[in-house]
Amino acid sequence: MPVDLFTVGAGCLTWIPVAIMAVSLIQWMIAGDIDLPSGFLGLLVSIGLGTVAMRPPAPIHAPIALFVAIATVVVYPFLRGTMQKRELKNFEVDELERAYDLLGQQPMNPLPKFRVAKQLYVLGLHGHAIRIAEAVLPQLPKDLFTDEHRIWRQWQYTPQTPSMFAPISCSECGHRNDPGRTHCFQCGAPHLLNRFRGKIVPKTQGRKILAAWIALVIMLVGLPFAGNLPIGGAVAVVVACLLGAALVLFLAFRPSNEGATA
Ligand SMILES: [Zn+2]
Repeated sequence: MPVDLFTVGAGCLTWIPVAIMAVSLIQWMIAGDIDLPSGFLGLLVSIGLGTVAMRPPAPIHAPIALFVAIATVVVYPFLRGTMQKRELKNFEVDELERAYDLLGQQPMNPLPKFRVAKQLYVLGLHGHAIRIAEAVLPQLPKDLFTDEHRIWRQWQYTPQTPSMFAPISCSECGHRNDPGRTHCFQCGAPHLLNRFRGKIVPKTQGRKILAAWIALVIMLVGLPFAGNLPIGGAVAVVVACLLGAALVLFLAFRPSNEGATA
């Protein structure tokens, strides 16, 4: 029967994005890119959705599962893009931390200082990076440090704006440090590094996209169950679905400290 074929087809098609979603969620949880509760909830919903698609409790669930599969394909690139951005930013902040460590071991060496400048530039503090680098560049002979001089030449194409060279306040003492300093003039804290410490791309962005997807799945898969039930049960299912979806969205979108650093 064509209905059965459609049901089977929809079931198989649903599993593909659902399986990709589930595997990615596990990877993101292991890498710490998504918080564990959100990841587990997403995983449970993914597996539940796959099961509903394979053995639809009611015929209506087959097209719904297919629709959710399409929604998953739409949502997935956004979620993945958010996770990649987060991973990359965290990597660059780690690199800055390492450059500062090296500078701490060899405060008089111009090379670690240039490395700090290079990482600051990558992280978007162009003006401060340029001022730090131009102070140490004369100590790095052109013929020996070709990479450094090449990077420096590339930086010359950066459009310069006054805001790039605005002072940056120290997180420890509040002193406003002009560009050119790797450490605070007043207290010696690594004020530029502190700007990025703990300011990693928050997990909340991925969580919000995931929550919207989970809420959609709960509504679409849960609500049709109400159709086969007596009125009391139907109302209970509808209320449970609405509450469940609202709770997931509330938990993901409520303001948090982590979100404030975005
Ligand atoms: Zn300070």
